[in-house]
Amino acid sequence: MVTNGNGHMKKYDVIVIGSGPAGNLFASLTAAARLSVLVIEKDSAAKPYSQRLCLSPDCLHLWERQKLFAEFTALPHTRLKNISFSFGSNPPIDFPPSPDGKEIYSIDKEVLNGWLRERAIAAGAEYLPGIRCQEVDFARRLNTDAGEFHSKVLVGADGRNSWVARMANFPLRKIRHPKTAWLSSSQLPGSDSAHFKFFKEGYFGFMPTSGSHTDLFMMLKKDCTHAPQKFMNDFFPGNDHLSWHSLPPAITYAATPAKNNILLIGDAAKTVEPLTGHGIYLALKSAEIAANLVIETQLKGGWNYLDDRYIYQHNELYGYLSQRNRIANFFIKYPRCGTLAVKYAARYPRIAQNYLPYFSGLENIGG
Ligand SMILES: Cc1cc2nc3c(=O)[nH]c(=O)nc-3n(C[C@H](O)[C@H](O)[C@H](O)COP(=O)(O)OP(=O)(O)OC[C@H]3O[C@@H](n4cnc5c(N)ncnc54)[C@H](O)[C@@H]3O)c2cc1C
Repeated sequence: MVTNGNGHMKKYDVIVIGSGPAGNLFASLTAAARLSVLVIEKDSAAKPYSQRLCLSPDCLHLWERQKLFAEFTALPHTRLKNISFSFGSNPPIDFPPSPDGKEIYSIDKEVLNGWLRERAIAAGAEYLPGIRCQEVDFARRLNTDAGEFHSKVLVGADGRNSWVARMANFPLRKIRHPKTAWLSSSQLPGSDSAHFKFFKEGYFGFMPTSGSHTDLFMMLKKDCTHAPQKFMNDFFPGNDHLSWHSLPPAITYAATPAKNNILLIGDAAKTVEPLTGHGIYLALKSAEIAANLVIETQLKGGWNYLDDRYIYQHNELYGYLSQRNRIANFFIKYPRCGTLAVKYAARYPRIAQNYLPYFSGLENIGG
């Protein structure tokens, strides 16, 4: 048995696997409630690429609830005045960022993540970067290349295709339409608009980072044999020199987000289409739900029913997305119908906000 330095297994109230937005928020909330918290992250340095995020306005409520609004808005960010969509060769159609006037913040993922990680460490969470996890059993004993650890609650916050879900034998389901994500950054002049472009093989997102720079992402259907440079050059000739970094497609998801006091939060439980701008909100909100339940359970002194209560609240959070998911995946599959839908939405934004993926969120799973 691998032991921890002095030969003993180290014990914590909570161990979090993965230091993304979900894991870091969860760790900061539970550490602030005086639980002993360990965060294990496989990477030892910041990611080697930049990823710009549009945050759903729902995040603003979460920052306010957690009294983090002022700190969040002090981070470097841009605010979007406009979102536009174009399908195939049709001209783009513009929308205000949100029909009810709420703002959409655009921020670098490492900036957001670094801030949340610092908060977790300041609240007392231990942070172990660059650690490889080898196995975990149903009793939450974790074997790593830094020794063996045990916790009352284990949290899988390790993103898409979760290692925790696989190793802890969660029932897994296949994602029906996997897409490979590609990221790039360019000197294309930025503006205060984000733009999404749809085509037969997938879609593009353009995220302004400054007046002179734009981050790009492209989601290509997994069976697409062309490289992103081809589509870039088709739509924006002269930009085929950009280098692109690929992320593995999400191919499985766990059929349940909790088992034996092992909770999955963020993308580890469910992934959403990047175009929704809801991924970070759902990661943060599921982390908040899990943290509140763990703190409450700890205070009561018993760990019974934690799984059931988390599963219930998690289903409530994600459940409302499934119908919209089907609609949105239909538009991604049939861009011409998307054109008609967006034209309709531009004319009747109040009705469309209930259905259009960007405003309402769409779930990738099972689409
Ligand atoms: C191209 C693209 C664009 C996107 N754009 C947006 C957007 O504009 N707005 C939005 O809201 N959402 C967007 N999303 C979705 C969003 O990025 C995710 O929903 C969000 O990052 C999920 O957060 P998380 O903390 O659950 O997981 P992640 O951010 O994936 O973090 C998981 C962490 O766990 C670590 N890890 C993984 N495996 C292990 C292991 N075995 N052991 C230890 N650590 C491990 C990883 O290194 C990582 O640090 C986008 C996604 C993609 C792919």
